[in-house]
Amino acid sequence: MLAARLAAGATSKLEGMSHTRSFYADLSPDTAVVAAGRPEWEQGEPVNPPVLLSSTFISRGVPSETEPSYSRYDNPSNHPAEQVIGLLEHGPCDAVLFASGMAAIDAALSLIPPGARVVMPSHAYNGTLALARELAAEGRFRLSALPIDQTQDVIAALAGSDGCAPAAMLWIETPTNPLLEIADGAALVAAAHEVGAVVAVDNTIATPFGQRPLDWGADVVVHSASKALGGHSDLILGAVVAMSPDDDLALRDFRRVHGSTPSAFDGFLLLRGLRTLALRNERSNASAATLARRLEAHPAVEKVIHPSLASHPGNTIAKAQMTGFGSVISIELVGGAKAADSLAAQTRSWAPATSLGGVESMLERRRRWPGEFTDVPESLVRLSVGIENVDDLWEDLSQALSRI
Ligand SMILES: *Cc1c(COP(=O)(O)O)cnc(C)c1O
Repeated sequence: MLAARLAAGATSKLEGMSHTRSFYADLSPDTAVVAAGRPEWEQGEPVNPPVLLSSTFISRGVPSETEPSYSRYDNPSNHPAEQVIGLLEHGPCDAVLFASGMAAIDAALSLIPPGARVVMPSHAYNGTLALARELAAEGRFRLSALPIDQTQDVIAALAGSDGCAPAAMLWIETPTNPLLEIADGAALVAAAHEVGAVVAVDNTIATPFGQRPLDWGADVVVHSASKALGGHSDLILGAVVAMSPDDDLALRDFRRVHGSTPSAFDGFLLLRGLRTLALRNERSNASAATLARRLEAHPAVEKVIHPSLASHPGNTIAKAQMTGFGSVISIELVGGAKAADSLAAQTRSWAPATSLGGVESMLERRRRWPGEFTDVPESLVRLSVGIENVDDLWEDLSQALSRI
């Protein structure tokens, strides 16, 4: 169904979209995020697309490629959100939504030919590395993991040495979660393409309002939409945007066969959340930069990691490739793990919970998770800055830090 729909550039009344992506191409992203994925402005028509609660669709004879048939194959209700994310990432294709960020990552990793080599950040999101290590252990591909902010080392690893063939895929995460290392996007994409590797970028922390990896030349962008894209800590979803129509179709086939197609309700919540992404991102990024500066001066804090700070080794690259520096800050506390646990027990505006990118500020000591890398210090607390008043957030944080 999708192949023909994309080729024809068609939209259907059923999915609630009146225009294909090209109609919005000249709009600023903060306008497109509000305008795209809507029904035709006809008398009596709804302003929002419908939530279609049907697993199956009337279909006689040979199933048509251009009409919906079964919601696991493709869920027309999710097309508006897929269009919006595709536009935001400057992709030529709409996004492909998945049932979680991990399902999206699984699908993106399936683009690698069997037995090929993948270069990945050694401090990528721990779920990403756990999945990649499992696939590598099964012999699906070979894995080289190294710090993604060490540009020359990554370039050398891509080319292959010690008898290794050149890599088939470079996986970038920037900033990484939770160490917030910054990769040099344009330099790494160029080096990867030189050896024929495709580049996938996990853009979860920065969001498309913070950086657009496809503009650096990357081939695939991946999101955990459970974070800032949804933005309200009420859904689990993932998204992938591909540059090539072949990759786009491969991702859709993978989703259909593996059954990781999301439900219409989740697609609705995502679209609703996306409408305010520009505003939420602006506020949370500005507050994060303010709080990072204030935290640097607090005696209970040993180290503050945020790409906005001159003390961050990736500050120059972040200034060049990002708009804003993200809403996540990591801090290391003077008093070790105990101090970090004590901080998490004494806040009232910062929810002690995992996840990031929501309207509500959150914090957690990352090493409380057994699966977190030992390179992450025991005292490291990851802060996700929401959209509350920044002085209230600071007041709460500084009182809790002082009581450790
Ligand atoms: C949360 C997260 C994921 C995983 O996404 P889920 O929606 O939880 O499956 C992947 N990458 C990054 C950077 C994340 O923060």
